[in-house]
Amino acid sequence: MPTETAIRPQLAYLHDQLEELKKKGTYFKLRVLDDEQKPVCHFDGKEVINLASNNYLGLTTHPKLREAAIEATKKYGVGPGAVRTIAGTMKIHMELEEKLARFKNVEACVVFQSGFTANAGTVSAILGKEDFIISDELNHASIIDGARLSRAKILVFRHKDVAHAEEQLASVKDQPGRKLIITDGVFSMDGDIGPLPALCDLAEKYGAIMMVDDAHASGVLGRAGRGTIDHFGVHGRVDIQVGTLSKAIGAIGGYVCGSRDLIEFLYHRARPFLFSTSHPPSVTATCIAAVDVLENEPHLIEQLWDNTRYFKKELGLLGFNIGGVNTPASETPITPIIIGDGKLTMDFSRELLKEGVMATGIAFPTVAEGKARIRTIMTATHAREQMDKALETLARVAKRMGILG
Ligand code: PMP
Repeated sequence: MPTETAIRPQLAYLHDQLEELKKKGTYFKLRVLDDEQKPVCHFDGKEVINLASNNYLGLTTHPKLREAAIEATKKYGVGPGAVRTIAGTMKIHMELEEKLARFKNVEACVVFQSGFTANAGTVSAILGKEDFIISDELNHASIIDGARLSRAKILVFRHKDVAHAEEQLASVKDQPGRKLIITDGVFSMDGDIGPLPALCDLAEKYGAIMMVDDAHASGVLGRAGRGTIDHFGVHGRVDIQVGTLSKAIGAIGGYVCGSRDLIEFLYHRARPFLFSTSHPPSVTATCIAAVDVLENEPHLIEQLWDNTRYFKKELGLLGFNIGGVNTPASETPITPIIIGDGKLTMDFSRELLKEGVMATGIAFPTVAEGKARIRTIMTATHAREQMDKALETLARVAKRMGILG
């Protein structure tokens, strides 16, 4: 049989565009992890120190989570067999939602298949074309897609610029549509924290709905990792809190916390909830076990922050641009090393990998043109020697490539 993968004329334009990426130096191949997601692991057969995962607390391999997944599989099988609204709501799904609602101290919670679908499904469900979304320019793609799907008018404000957000709100305050202010709790490319208290003030002044995407704050910020709402003490002032189960929690999924009415409405109208099958029992049981770990093993979050402070300080001392000048200053375990040029950044990332450090290069369009960077993410499970070895390698390769003087 002839192969079906030959270039077909109808799709030749895709091939051309990939060739363009190659010329620009921003084409990439997927790096394949051979073993467990850990601080030292093997990508494509090579041992590396891993500075690229969102596995903040090391929960991807936590024995209690692993055990919970196995037990749930034995007890309930491997899949729910249907979407939640047909026949795919299992007792264990309800248990996780109740647990997350108690953890976040809100009335109710709904779990989605991912953080992406939680954001996109929620924003597109609660707003329509007569409404307005006031959105930080660096909000995550899932918020942007949800906003587009809602057909509401999108008013973007400069990153963390509350005065600009107010200008945008004021410009539509006399229009009849609903207004939604939306921000990431922690911004994924710069590691800085959204200005929640000031945005809550604005929401209250203008009667707007307030929504926060806490993907990178869940399990990282606030008491026991309750997120930015807890970090800032703005309880009761954020109508919609989104979290993810795919980063610090170590598995996969996203959730929305808020009032009972909000959650019931999402049951009826959020399209990923209605039209896509729910999590397998193993995932749900893993997430239940993860919330227990957050509550009972506080040393993990303490270690995450100890490691973060050390690694960030040392990166700065080496002379790297870790943000804060023409880019936001990181305040979390995400620390960017700003390079600027997209090709140089990707080359740096490739060289690092050859030398045993896995750190993702991020270029346009994920970040603005001229602001390409290597993104490093610290976790609770990196040992001091691993951090030191990574720092030494980063400095050595950067000097060789003229990135550091
Ligand atoms: N929001 C933010 C800020 C994120 O960084 C991500 C993950 N890249 C998501 C949402 C989506 O989360 P998930 O990976 O669980 O779909």
